[in-house]
Amino acid sequence: MTDVTRKDFDEVMVPCYNPMAIIPVRGEGARIWDQQDKEYVDFAGGIAVSCLGHCHPVMVEALTKQANQLWHLSNVMTNEPALRLAKKLVELSFADKVFFANSGAEANEAALKLARRYAVDEFGEQKSKIIAFNQGFHGRTFFTVTVGGQSAYSDGFGPKPGDIDHIPYNDIKAFEAAISDETCAVMMEPLQGEGGIIAPTSEFVQTVRELCDKHNALLIFDEVQTGNGRTGDFYAYQGLGVTPDILSTAKSLGGGFPVGAMLTTEKLAKHLKIGTHGSTYGGNPLACAVAEAVVSHVSQPDVLQGVKEREGLFRAELERINAKYPIFAEIRGKGLLLGAELNDEWKGRSRDVLVAAGEEGLMVLIAGASVVRFTPSLVITPEEIKQGFARFEAAIAKLYNA
Ligand SMILES: *Cc1c(COP(=O)(O)O)cnc(C)c1O
Repeated sequence: MTDVTRKDFDEVMVPCYNPMAIIPVRGEGARIWDQQDKEYVDFAGGIAVSCLGHCHPVMVEALTKQANQLWHLSNVMTNEPALRLAKKLVELSFADKVFFANSGAEANEAALKLARRYAVDEFGEQKSKIIAFNQGFHGRTFFTVTVGGQSAYSDGFGPKPGDIDHIPYNDIKAFEAAISDETCAVMMEPLQGEGGIIAPTSEFVQTVRELCDKHNALLIFDEVQTGNGRTGDFYAYQGLGVTPDILSTAKSLGGGFPVGAMLTTEKLAKHLKIGTHGSTYGGNPLACAVAEAVVSHVSQPDVLQGVKEREGLFRAELERINAKYPIFAEIRGKGLLLGAELNDEWKGRSRDVLVAAGEEGLMVLIAGASVVRFTPSLVITPEEIKQGFARFEAAIAKLYNA
């Protein structure tokens, strides 16, 4: 029996979202079913969150085991799942220290506050400038949304946090002109997600790292979308040959359970002394137990290798469909963070593609008005991929022939 419907959304929910017409009620692997029991193949993965698909046994087991043991303590006490997860993240990355949060925005908020605190402690108040990039996305708290590169998201809320400059991504000249000894930190995504699936050039990231070192500025990689195996490396920085000073992770970290983390070095971490930052839920045992199971599974070499193989399948299917119905100008991205940019004729119609796919029983995402985005489960099966693309082809054919 269905006692709530999409109509209720408009009645009782704050209207900051425009959700699809359907309401999914259950999921398994890379499939979900709606209230009418219609089945969908899921190439969206809850926006790069459901890295093991829906209700993966590894996650269900970790969650139910912890649910019968201990849910919450607060940071007045530490807990075993948080300590285990932190040790694992330290093992898998450049970091020595971990701060737990509940979301990507909170992990980034911690990263930015740490960078500012470090600069004040070590160099003085004048070293406060933050460089960020156009189209970048870092979350919706007022600090992170202001560092994000879309003023449409940060305008209209009164005075903004200051000393934040935005420059074009991949523009070495603009970066050289922007950075100085007053730069406290540079925040960037090692592959822009929301901004349209834009990869950095290798010279660009190298230059950013070199000039950060030269000016004692910290390099913050926002790996909220790229982290946890999404690009085929456990963290995207590991495939770029450039190591940040601070890294934020969330989304796939919990595989669907809300959790985020900020990773950094011992040298920086010591500036967040007792009382300087905190969170009631951050490091919550339930969240950390699930995340530990997710991280243990995703970080296995065969799972990471599997992401690269699935990228190949996605690219081949997209090229095949595009050869038949040419609507895409470019297929880009890395691992299972892929974007298909519409060509001039189809420009601005990514939402039409999303809606048409939904009608055929396939969930996809968009990244702006002209990019169709794919962020499926990292363990999606080849059969699910085939079936999803059969539906995608049907959707594109309908649009193309309309
Ligand atoms: C989604 C995202 C965020 C925000 O994460 P929330 O969990 O929604 O706060 C931040 N940065 C990037 C790169 C993201 O993709």
